[in-house]
Amino acid sequence: MAADPPVSGKPVFRFAPSPNGRLHLGHAFSALANEALAQRVDGRLLLRIEDIDPVRCRPDYIDGIIEDLDWLGIRFEQPVRRQSAHLADYAAALSVLRVRGLVYPCFCSRQDVRAAVARRESEVGRPWPVDPDGAPLYPGCCRGLAEADASRRIGAGEPHVLRLDMARAAILAGGDIGYEVFDADGRRRFVRAQPARWGDVVLARKDVPTSYHLAVVVDDALQGVTHVVRGTDLEAATDIHATLQRLLGLPTPLYHFHELLIDAEGRKLAKSRSSESLATLRERGVTAAMIRQRLGFG
Ligand code: GLU
Repeated sequence: MAADPPVSGKPVFRFAPSPNGRLHLGHAFSALANEALAQRVDGRLLLRIEDIDPVRCRPDYIDGIIEDLDWLGIRFEQPVRRQSAHLADYAAALSVLRVRGLVYPCFCSRQDVRAAVARRESEVGRPWPVDPDGAPLYPGCCRGLAEADASRRIGAGEPHVLRLDMARAAILAGGDIGYEVFDADGRRRFVRAQPARWGDVVLARKDVPTSYHLAVVVDDALQGVTHVVRGTDLEAATDIHATLQRLLGLPTPLYHFHELLIDAEGRKLAKSRSSESLATLRERGVTAAMIRQRLGFG
């Protein structure tokens, strides 16, 4: 893994959008929060395009991101890192975890998982636990597969994903996994991670050879990111990130989680619900200054 050359001892911030739609006000808020917090500590500001998912990410959305951020007047350092150009870095990290016996192949389809969860629920007579995003924890069907069986099935071309053995990860990572959260005044507090609440997360798939979790920790380390500013929707996932950082021997940045903007109906702004994009607002004559003002960064 080739790290970007260290430029200075300055704090390093990054805004890391996924190009699977046009940016909306929620993204603008996150980007402006990064800019404001970086400016407070004379930090550097990087832009990273998280385009590992070839199905959902589109090149025209990358152009849109650059155009919208430029219009907002936020200046990012060059070059912009595009995750799809660095798959070898994530593969290298994955093999470190594999060598440590932390990764296993899982051949379950979504349907298999659903059926296994339903079976367990009827056995134990209560609902199966869900992760912080509301998905049922992986019930572990493939965790104990004999290596020879797994290799034979892989050899036969059976579709599979690679999962992190979270119980083993927690043991190898040792106690006190956590991270520090900082506020706008620079105060910090330690948050203990609870990775077990996520179960055996997927680290790689056939079509996407790395997961968001793995790519984000590798990139934050390679880019020397010291301050991660992102929405509260990614707060719980930081448990996984702190665990992976420990297992891979990577530094844990400081974190700040900002509130999410909600729409008139009280729902989180999301591309999937076609929230008004910055491009649409711009076409209607809204200016960048108005957006900054409206979001409290005027
Ligand atoms: N790419 C992620 C997203 O657009 C954000 C990643 C991060 O800030 O860690 O939701």
